Amino acid sequence: VVELRAVDKHFGPLHALRNINLRVNRGEVVVVLGPSGSGKSTMCRTINRLETIDSGEILVDGAPQPAEGKELFKFRTEVGMVFQSFNLFANRTILDNVTLAPRKILGQSKTDAERRARELLDMVGIGSKAGSYPAQLSGGQSQRAAIARALAMEPKVILFDEPTSALDPESTQDVLTTMRQLAERGTTMVVVTHEMSFARSCADRIIFMADGAIIESADPETFFSAPSSERARSFLSSVH
Ligand code: ATP
Ligand code: MG
Repeated sequence: VVELRAVDKHFGPLHALRNINLRVNRGEVVVVLGPSGSGKSTMCRTINRLETIDSGEILVDGAPQPAEGKELFKFRTEVGMVFQSFNLFANRTILDNVTLAPRKILGQSKTDAERRARELLDMVGIGSKAGSYPAQLSGGQSQRAAIARALAMEPKVILFDEPTSALDPESTQDVLTTMRQLAERGTTMVVVTHEMSFARSCADRIIFMADGAIIESADPETFFSAPSSERARSFLSSVH
């Protein structure tokens, strides 16, 4: 679905992404690991063109990522993004938060959008919160609302950037359970996380980044039991 080819990106003198080559196939769950500052968020942001790149190519379903205009706008609706902060609209109900974009951008009728939104909210386990406002939800519930909102756009891929790192342990488990269900349903996902149990059990592939480069790409079994680089070994010993 998504392919990065020889992607390079600088922030001034800082070489933030170095020759990134990554292919995420339909239905695949790719977990991105790496120390702070290694470029994980930057890489995710380039996929959605929240960051531009200096050189290389990003292809979506084989076509180059649109540079601007209507095509870029449409492309962005096809790439879901879930951040550490939930970015829900505070003055709208959860149901409105989920239906807003499908109605405005996909042109769904209120009835259709709300029917689908209620299904999604049930699926992520917060069906009873449809009429609540974001301030009335716990962190874990808010994040699940944000996931439902992303799913409502029927994206080709969803990028998760540390979706649980602002949450308490119990909420973290609720959100990970939801993400596990999505993975099992064949959702194409790129997940930046420090949750090693999720990485181990849900990833089809682990990408390990350091200093802006992908230095390992392996199935979880191989990565966790026999990482090939010293960087990955020391990273793993620090998180375990
Ligand atoms: P973390 O685990 O802490 O979230 P990360 O792997 O997501 O780290 P990035 O946020 O991608 O790391 O940052 C990679 C590098 O690029 C860091 O050195 C960071 O300081 C730098 N950087 C990120 N965004 C910008 C920006 N807008 N301007 C300048 N430098 C930036
Ligand atoms: Mg980050």
